[in-house]
Parts: sequence; C-alpha cells; structure tokens
Amino acid sequence: FKPVVTLVGRPNVGKSTLFNRLTRSRAALVADFAGLTRDRHYGEGRVGDIPFIVVDTGGFEPVAKTGILHHMARQTEQAIAESDVVIFLVDARAGLNAHDQDIASLLRKSGQKVLLCVNKAEGMSHTAAVAEFHELGLGEPHAISASHGDGVMSLIEEALSSF
Ligand code: GDP
Ligand code: MG
Repeated sequence: FKPVVTLVGRPNVGKSTLFNRLTRSRAALVADFAGLTRDRHYGEGRVGDIPFIVVDTGGFEPVAKTGILHHMARQTEQAIAESDVVIFLVDARAGLNAHDQDIASLLRKSGQKVLLCVNKAEGMSHTAAVAEFHELGLGEPHAISASHGDGVMSLIEEALSSF
C-alpha cells in the first residue's frame, strides 16, 4: 500500500513546483499506475522509508461548464475521490480568490482528509501568510514555499501521519 497524495488548486498556485520537489529524482512517471490518465501526472515520493504516490492535477476551473475546462474539473473531482489525502494549494501572494472558494467547497463535501497549504510564503510571517485563508473552513493552514522548500517536509509528514 502506498498512500495517494493529490495536489489540487487553481492554475499557477505551484502544484507542479511542489510535485517536482516531492518526487525529485523519482520524477519518472509511475507509468503502470492503475487508472493513469493524461490529465494527471503521477510520481513517487518518499519520507524516510515510506513511499507515497503524488498526483499533480491539471488546471481546475469549476465555473467552466463546457469543453476542455469542464473535462479537467471532472478529472480533478475524480482524482480527489481516489486520494488518501489531498493537499489543497492556495497562493499567499495572490490572496484568496473565488476559485479557491469553489474548490474548498468541493473538498469539504468530499469528506476527504485535506491539508490547506498556503504556498509562496517565503519571506512572509506565518501569521500574515495564512490569515485570510482560515475562512475556507479547512482547518489551520500550513505556510510553505514549494520553490524554496520551506515547510514542505513538515507538510508531507503531517499528510502521511495516519498511514
Ligand atoms: P501550477 O499551475 O499550480 O502547477 O503552478 P506552477 O508550479 O507551474 O507554478 C506557477 C508559478 O509560481 C511559477 O512561476 C513558479 O515558479 C511559481 N512558484 C511556485 N512555487 C512558488 C513559491 O513557493 N514561491 C514563489 N515566489 N513562486 C512560486
Ligand atoms: Mg502545473
């Protein structure tokens, strides 16, 4: 059993940057992972001896009703359902956004374990970075910097703590 950790969030919040950091040299695709689709990117990470699967979802556009964006949103909902734990990324510099609210609503309804993660928080105080995101109703936010690495190890340790 390898826990499946799924990264969700609107475009440009840093999902792929976090994916690359978590998978590092194991960035090779897990090509034989059941249900592989081209809408998601699968990799393997490891904390100590514990391996886990990381899923980078595509863009998430819950307001789009037709075409490719609608298809991507459905794919992301399916990816959430197939997760053991979801890391929901938001952007400390861009601030809270209506798309974040839509995704949060979907995640609250999913019943999945969700860690709210405020990315791009390097150089900011933790308190200032996370303040406005409490209202998403997903518990205490974690401040991280996917590109610098700050907070990433404690985030993934908490994500995997029950496995
Ligand atoms: P995605 O669309 O959610 O996959 O986002 P990307 O990983 O492609 O990142 C979007 C942009 O944000 C890129 O220019 C990244 O370099 C930048 N970015 C990602 N993580 C951080 C971070 O921790 N701090 C800062 N300042 N920029 C970041
Ligand atoms: Mg990406």
